Amino acid sequence: MSKAIIIGGGVIGLFSAYYLHKSGWEVDVLDRGDLSDNCSFGNAGMVTPSHFVPLASPGMVEQGIRWMFNSKSPFYVKPSLNKDLLSWGLKFVKSATKKHLERSAGGLRDISLLSRDLYHEFEKDAGFDFGLIDNGILMLFKSPKVEEEELHMVEKATNLGLDAQYLTPDECHKLQPGIELDILGAVHYHCDSHMYPNMLMKGLVKYLEAEGVGIHRNTEVTKIIHDGKNITSVLTEDNEYTADSYLISGGSWSPGIAKLVGLKVPLMPGKGYSFMVHEPVKKMTIPSILCEARVAVTPMNGSIRFGGTMEIGKINKQVNMNRVKGIVESVPKYFPDFKLPVPDQKDIWFGFRPCSPDGLPYIGMSGKYNNLAIATGHAMIGLALGPATGKLIADALNGQQPVMDINMFSPFRYE
Ligand SMILES: Cc1cc2nc3c(=O)[nH]c(=O)nc-3n(C[C@H](O)[C@H](O)[C@H](O)COP(=O)(O)OP(=O)(O)OC[C@H]3O[C@@H](n4cnc5c(N)ncnc54)[C@H](O)[C@@H]3O)c2cc1C
Repeated sequence: MSKAIIIGGGVIGLFSAYYLHKSGWEVDVLDRGDLSDNCSFGNAGMVTPSHFVPLASPGMVEQGIRWMFNSKSPFYVKPSLNKDLLSWGLKFVKSATKKHLERSAGGLRDISLLSRDLYHEFEKDAGFDFGLIDNGILMLFKSPKVEEEELHMVEKATNLGLDAQYLTPDECHKLQPGIELDILGAVHYHCDSHMYPNMLMKGLVKYLEAEGVGIHRNTEVTKIIHDGKNITSVLTEDNEYTADSYLISGGSWSPGIAKLVGLKVPLMPGKGYSFMVHEPVKKMTIPSILCEARVAVTPMNGSIRFGGTMEIGKINKQVNMNRVKGIVESVPKYFPDFKLPVPDQKDIWFGFRPCSPDGLPYIGMSGKYNNLAIATGHAMIGLALGPATGKLIADALNGQQPVMDINMFSPFRYE
């Protein structure tokens, strides 16, 4: 039986473990944390084939610069002379073009649709509930400028074969009659789904452990040993682990892990916040994105999670209350019933999205080593792409033809 070691047990590492285990591998997942929290837990829980536009897209650079002067804005790049940030920024600017968008949209749609279907298969196979619901998501907007942009997106989505429907405020209100809205209109992406990610992650860890996958908590990989073009082992403080193949799926920590074997995986952490309202004034059934504010609102098991902001900078534990207030204040502008108190700092979750400069994930073999794969850089759609990435990584390590073309996700495109 072939053996695999997976470095990092977020949703990407765990789904890779799931598909490798299914195809007959002995698998060990090593994680520096205790697997009770990482970016894959507190996110907005959306599975979004509708997100076929990469973060690096036309207009994003200009918009980002405008937002940098507003302390409550949803996007912020901490100015710094750090060379990794500068190099990432240059690559981002180079990718924020119409051509890149046109080239990426089809691939992002395909991997998202694959993943959404695999979630449904997984739900049946694993047999535990993680709140997966196919109610679509609503893009709610208030300004004519965003309406125009959203109408353009509906056209693009329709051309890509996705089910997107423009709604007037009245039509949107009829979907959740109890909830007051103050919007100019909405787009309903019927192709999208949502879930409760904490339930998924807890259930997935439990399921894998019961299936015999080795889950090693508080086990940080600090060194990777290689012999020419083959990785031979990984070291932690107390142990050496050997396997036939290895996977780096360390989320925002992946560049540091890849550097241990001389690989460049350009990534910056994009910090985001979320908080739960457990007894909302009104029950919601369909998640929404408040377009101008870039805030996600997701019903989860009778509660509602509010999340947003993207702070590109270093990994740190600071909570920027101004940006959390930005989220809180935006909500009643769309949902007048939801006048939320600012949550206590202890109730605010944060996580670091692993953001590649071109907005595309890194999925596949590393290029430089025969038995090392990389799966990271999923930014805002890592939860959505978990199963597809896991399946594609299992195919790659099994030497099988991937179920879809993954050239655009090559982990060594910046080498
Ligand atoms: C506010 C917010 C909302 C979001 N909403 C959505 C959404 O609605 N839909 C969606 O699809 N995505 C969403 N995302 C993005 C999504 O959460 C991420 O893309 C995804 O969780 C990344 O998963 P990952 O497995 O790559 O990384 P992580 O979940 O961060 O896991 C990486 C793991 O690697 C471990 N690790 C790091 N270094 C080492 C080491 N040296 N040795 C061993 N282990 C190591 C870490 O401890 C960690 O457990 C959101 C993110 C945020 C912040």
